[in-house]
Amino acid sequence: MLEHAAVSPWPLSGQPLHQRDAAPWRRIPAWADLDEATFRDAGWQLRSSVRSLDGLAALVGALAPDGFLEDVRAGLAAAPMAMRITPHLLASVVWSNPWRDPIRRQFIPVGSELEADHPMGSLDSLEEERDAVLPGLVHRYPDKVLYLTLDVCPVYCRFCTRSYAVGADTQEVEKASLAGGRGRLDQVLAYLRAHPQVVDVVVSGGDTSMLPASGIREIGEALVRLPQIRRVRFASKLMSVLPQKVLSDQAWLDALTEVTRLGRERGCEVALHTHINHPAEITVHTLEAAKVLWQRGITVRNQSVLQRGVNDTPEVMSHLLRELASLHLRPYYVYTHDVVAGVEVLRTSLRTALEVEKAVRGSIAGFDMPVFVCDVVGGGGKRDAHSFEHYDERMGVAVFRSPVVDPERPFFYFDPLSSLSPEARSIWSDPERRGAMLQRILERAGMGVRQ
Ligand SMILES: *Cc1c(COP(=O)(O)O)cnc(C)c1O
Ligand code: SF4
Repeated sequence: MLEHAAVSPWPLSGQPLHQRDAAPWRRIPAWADLDEATFRDAGWQLRSSVRSLDGLAALVGALAPDGFLEDVRAGLAAAPMAMRITPHLLASVVWSNPWRDPIRRQFIPVGSELEADHPMGSLDSLEEERDAVLPGLVHRYPDKVLYLTLDVCPVYCRFCTRSYAVGADTQEVEKASLAGGRGRLDQVLAYLRAHPQVVDVVVSGGDTSMLPASGIREIGEALVRLPQIRRVRFASKLMSVLPQKVLSDQAWLDALTEVTRLGRERGCEVALHTHINHPAEITVHTLEAAKVLWQRGITVRNQSVLQRGVNDTPEVMSHLLRELASLHLRPYYVYTHDVVAGVEVLRTSLRTALEVEKAVRGSIAGFDMPVFVCDVVGGGGKRDAHSFEHYDERMGVAVFRSPVVDPERPFFYFDPLSSLSPEARSIWSDPERRGAMLQRILERAGMGVRQ
């Protein structure tokens, strides 16, 4: 731990992290002699990212326990997302027990973890495709839009809600294309001019760390120059998966800084929204990148996804939030895991979210306390996890209203079936009883029959 403190460019609060050595990559035999300049290079990180079982075997075959790679083979065959993981994350996995590792669990599927999908799940459970007003432009809330600029990421998260669009085609899913270019930006700008009530743009992906510096500049400046736009956020998982982007791609960092500065001049807030789920993702390079962004005056907020076996205990969540707050990566949201196919094993019940929230609130400054939200099934958007109309814990069904999106329609969150009793599960498996059960729950929520 002393060694960690010595290399840490940033003061830490709370418990020391278990993954914070100065050269984590040296644990991977093939990188034992790799110099820091290479590992620090975002281009090298991307070129060296692992996308196949063979690639994984070459790097960690000698470290992982017997049976692990076979388990990954089975996991990949059934997964809706392709695999892609950066060396940065790969080096932070504890390979002596990868089954339990929180990073492995988020990025590398294993067959032994397969759990049947929830009957109410679907690939696009948030119905973004329904609310798309242009290809890649989602307009669900009155004054904000989500602009999906590209369909690639430095990594592919198993839990991705955009698995209908993001990533290379796998055996399971043929992806809808989101590619666009300059023509797409012009269409988006025309849409915004025609809809002056929109004042807030989330620029997402994929992951905006994959946009070239010129893309950040072009999109950012065009948005900031629209007089109506007050807030622009660039969404990127880079602080978790590729902090080297901030440390080695000067042009990209300068573009973001310039857009931020221009925004400040014009009364428009520009921020980076990132996505760290577990303290083990915070490495020396993350610490350094956080310091650079802070010193450049770039606001960074963090969104996490609550995942079973990753961060669903008060201890891990509290540790994570204190680390994020100390780095000024301000905790913004903790999402319950969406009801998406193929990753049921990562979902928690709504009850777990409520209990974790209750346990951690008060342990840090109120403005660093994230709101726990459900992005509810049916396209109702993000709702405070506590704001359900009715929560039937026996059947694992929570009913929400979303007056701004649609005052009449009910929206849902469904607990994983594995958290329910055998009797409740048998009701779920019978389509007739399931329909009657859902109808009863809607009535109790005050949202019954509306033919
Ligand atoms: C999440 C999201 C936003 C931004 O919502 P905030 O609650 O302001 O972070 C905007 N549009 C869509 C479609 C979204 O999913
Ligand atoms: S980085 Fe974001 S968009 Fe890309 S796979 Fe992960 S969750 Fe999905």
